[in-house]
Amino acid sequence: MPENKGLIFDIQGHSVHDGPGCRTLIFMSGCPLRCEWCANPEGMEFKQRLMYQEQKCVNRTQGCTRCLAACPRQAISINNEGEIPLKISRELCQSCTTFDCTKVCYFEALTVSGKWMTLEELMRIINRDRQYWGQGGGVTFTGGEPLFQKDFTIAALKKCQSVYIHTAIETSAHIQREAFLKAMGYVDFAFIDIKHMDPEKHREKTGVTNELILGNITALVASGWPNRLIIRLPVIENFNDTDTNIIATAAFLNKVGLREINILPFHRLGDSKWMKLGLKYPYREYQGTTAEKMEHIKGLFQERGIACYTGSDTPF
Ligand code: SF4
Ligand code: SF4
Repeated sequence: MPENKGLIFDIQGHSVHDGPGCRTLIFMSGCPLRCEWCANPEGMEFKQRLMYQEQKCVNRTQGCTRCLAACPRQAISINNEGEIPLKISRELCQSCTTFDCTKVCYFEALTVSGKWMTLEELMRIINRDRQYWGQGGGVTFTGGEPLFQKDFTIAALKKCQSVYIHTAIETSAHIQREAFLKAMGYVDFAFIDIKHMDPEKHREKTGVTNELILGNITALVASGWPNRLIIRLPVIENFNDTDTNIIATAAFLNKVGLREINILPFHRLGDSKWMKLGLKYPYREYQGTTAEKMEHIKGLFQERGIACYTGSDTPF
């Protein structure tokens, strides 16, 4: 791991859904959770990943084999069966650090997700975008889990605040308490997900239980943190969309003293990314939650005194 650098798998400008105003989104690699419905699977692991987009590959149309010759591990071979032109041994690629195959793929069918950056390099990009935000915008750190690389992210948050840049974070809050509260000291606006109120059910679909997350939310509110915190619930059918779970979530929010939630309808935007990583998206066939169900969930929260926004309807 390069010293004093953060691993960032994407930077997007002009976002209006991830905090107040127009924002630049910084996607940090690494996450302690393994949500089966994840829309950014290339950010799950704290490492660079090889992405293969078969539609761009000209092996069959132009006979290109440059990447086969470039790979020092012979991890790529021609696929004579099925629609995908190349077979890639992901096991052999696991520990690759050079990604030589991507350097000869002029069609960008092979790319690397994740770039190591210094804080100075990141701030240069943020400052470049600053002129486009207008009034009330800023930076949102997301991922992956932005606090998985806590030292780098905290340094970046601190640096942004020191030059009067508004900071937001989208975090799972699954991080050791002290680091979490320290990071939040440099955050002006936060989204935290609650994926399920039952610890075991939470573990079944995300790989971790929810105690640390709920404990961190409770501790943050109890600390008198003065900024706006919006809880988010990605609604997943047959997992967390039951009345029992929604009522338990509302009870938790009321107990802690939070009064708003953002419910997110499921989408399949992550599907193509799972394919680029050579993985099958577990939710490929899943149709998502109906509008009626979303309305029903919204009603359950509202009946319990919780303002509930659907999708990007959240007023900032
Ligand atoms: S170098 Fe790129 S375009 Fe050529 S065969 Fe490899 S992946 Fe396909
Ligand atoms: S990522 Fe590395 S090991 Fe995998 S195909 Fe490319 S060069 Fe070979």
